[in-house]
Amino acid sequence: MILIEGLSKSYGTKNVLDRLDLSVDAGEIRAIVGPSGAGKSTLAQCVTLLERPTSGSVFVNGVDLTALGAAHLREARRRIGTIFQRDGLFARRTAAANVALPLEYLGVTRPEIRTRVGELLERVGLGDRAGAFPHELSGGQRQRVGIARALALRPSVLLSDEATSGLDPDSTASILALLRELRDDLGLSILFITHEMDAVVEVADSVAALHDGRIAESGTVVELLRDPSSPLGSLLRPTRP
Ligand code: ATP
Ligand code: MG
Repeated sequence: MILIEGLSKSYGTKNVLDRLDLSVDAGEIRAIVGPSGAGKSTLAQCVTLLERPTSGSVFVNGVDLTALGAAHLREARRRIGTIFQRDGLFARRTAAANVALPLEYLGVTRPEIRTRVGELLERVGLGDRAGAFPHELSGGQRQRVGIARALALRPSVLLSDEATSGLDPDSTASILALLRELRDDLGLSILFITHEMDAVVEVADSVAALHDGRIAESGTVVELLRDPSSPLGSLLRPTRP
């Protein structure tokens, strides 16, 4: 699980995140929404400590990452999978070779890699496309290869930053269905950053609205949808023509 306590992040004099508290339980998909520049991506970067928080703590499975030295941090980061808007695949590597990369890096044996990559591609519904290069795959399929790669080191936490943005509706639906499966089958804690309210309603258990670096409103999707006085609820409710 992820537990964020009193997280602040400044760039120069600009406070992007301001004493933010947030948690994502095991088996929970928690959406983060908010206007452009609200600090959503900064939040994701602070969870992996790619950006070092100015103050506050980030616990992943009970371990405070901000307190770790470089070697332990590298190890703790393996428990965090990340997926972004750009799939970040290597164009000259096949789907299988892309998924194999983190395992090769760790020195896993070849036969083990082959078995594991097969399982991972199977899990994301691409068991038959192992030999395909990224340009031979659709945007949604490439994103699924990216998810398989993010799962290679068996993370307990998945960070998704606009992972469905720019995908067509069918591909988006297939990615959202996959995230739900990962939540249910693997018990992952998923932090799902998006600006697409439909996707939140479709996939998230709970949602927090980020505004000026703080959580402006937060709750379960079901509760918010039912609450006529909730600004976030009204954003989530489908607008009828
Ligand atoms: P979007 O919806 O457009 O992706 P966001 O909510 O992800 O927006 P962030 O990318 O987190 O927003 O940026 C939040 C603020 O922090 C912005 O004002 C941005 O200019 C600033 N910022 C982000 N990274 C840096 C950096 N490395 N140096 C300075 N300022 C930064
Ligand atoms: Mg962003």
